[in-house]
Amino acid sequence: MNADRLLSVEEARRAVFAAISGATPAEVAWLIEARGRVVAETVTSPIALPPWDNSAMDGYAIRASDVAEATEDGPTRLEVIGEVRAGQAPEVTVRRGSALRIATGAPVPPGADAVVPVEATTPLDAGGAPAGPRGRDATGPLPDGVLVHTATPVGGSIRRAGSDLAAGTPILGPGTVVTPAALSLAAGVGLDQLNVHRRPIVGILATGDEVRSPGRDLGPAGIPDANGPGLVALVEEAGGDPRVLGIAKDRLDDVKSRICAGLIEGADALIVSGGVSVGPYDVVRAAFEAFGTVDLWRVAVQPGKPFAFGTGRAPGDDGTGDRPATLVFGLPGNPVSTFVTFELFVRPAIRRLGGHRDDDLFRPIDRAVLRDPVTKSSGRRAFVRVTVARDRDGSPQRDDGGRVLASLAGGAGGQGSHVLSALATAEALAVIPESDDSLPAGAEVELWWLDRA
Ligand code: AMP
Ligand code: MG
Repeated sequence: MNADRLLSVEEARRAVFAAISGATPAEVAWLIEARGRVVAETVTSPIALPPWDNSAMDGYAIRASDVAEATEDGPTRLEVIGEVRAGQAPEVTVRRGSALRIATGAPVPPGADAVVPVEATTPLDAGGAPAGPRGRDATGPLPDGVLVHTATPVGGSIRRAGSDLAAGTPILGPGTVVTPAALSLAAGVGLDQLNVHRRPIVGILATGDEVRSPGRDLGPAGIPDANGPGLVALVEEAGGDPRVLGIAKDRLDDVKSRICAGLIEGADALIVSGGVSVGPYDVVRAAFEAFGTVDLWRVAVQPGKPFAFGTGRAPGDDGTGDRPATLVFGLPGNPVSTFVTFELFVRPAIRRLGGHRDDDLFRPIDRAVLRDPVTKSSGRRAFVRVTVARDRDGSPQRDDGGRVLASLAGGAGGQGSHVLSALATAEALAVIPESDDSLPAGAEVELWWLDRA
């Protein structure tokens, strides 16, 4: 790629995607461990749901024809000949004039074609006198008889076998994210494992002689490592499996050996923050080149220049096996730049590796109106960190045109690529097109939601 030309965001994304040969392989995961991962193969239900006719109510299993004439004032009397509990196979057949007490979820006994809810009945003792109030809850002793106060249609309060799902129905397709509801569905049809894509393994390396682990003494010229922990969290939220490669000195041998460790660990992608500029101690590009090919890109974004991307392989991996090459990302060290370039280029790549569908790689996009003026570098697309006005219930306020109201995070001074305090408050990125050097308050822009819409 021609290093002198600025790439558009779309060109850079296309080039990243072109280096991805496909999603990670499928593996079998226990259900609870599959949460948040992506289904690799169509899952079909091994059973019908419900597996058998069962009662939707606590009440009495009856024959509908017995109570066809029942009214509030002229109830029909039935003999109670037993009961069927949830988890119990019915042993008794409901004959004409009789009823079985039945619990919600219990199988409908043979002979019965309807369930009358307990609320529409009065229990009777052996002498035919009321044994409790109308609608007495169904937990007491079994009554000898029951008055039914309403006619009940055939099938009333019965959940038919297969009415939710027939056996063999596809329930989860490839690319489906295993949400809590999807997990519950799989469990509900009796599955304890799912075929899901392996979480992409993503090595994370911070670089810089000045960068220290949080908690360590900073000395006269150190700064705490904001990017390492931030990237671990971003990778996890993108569905990846982060592997910490530590903090490298600005020395070629240190950066190289840590990158090598990540490659040997089988990383699907490596993210290195800092050290990709053209300063005398910026060694990341040379380190990447020891393991593969890399381009230093000048992408027309703000913040986010410079940015290195390529692919690499562990020593000894000659590329003839099944393993695709590892994607290597060199992100600018300023924490805001790291964050924005991760959002634009790395997160979609991790999601594609993780098996997400093409329509599920990017953040939701909205329209917004700026409440503050913005200025930016000419010819670059700026991703401005913004907060949005919200109603008391937390939903974003919108103007008459349905547009979100966006303010600069951290105010006018908050947009520097080193300003972490403003980044932490941002809820979305507002996109300022290449063509505009500045925009006034009131201008309409595209908005990319971050975590919460
Ligand atoms: P670089 O991309 O290495 O030239 O770094 C650009 C700026 O980001 C410098 O001010 C660095 O001190 C800062 N920086 C680099 N890495 C980190 C990090 N891991 N955490 C916080 N700041 C960083
Ligand atoms: Mg540096």
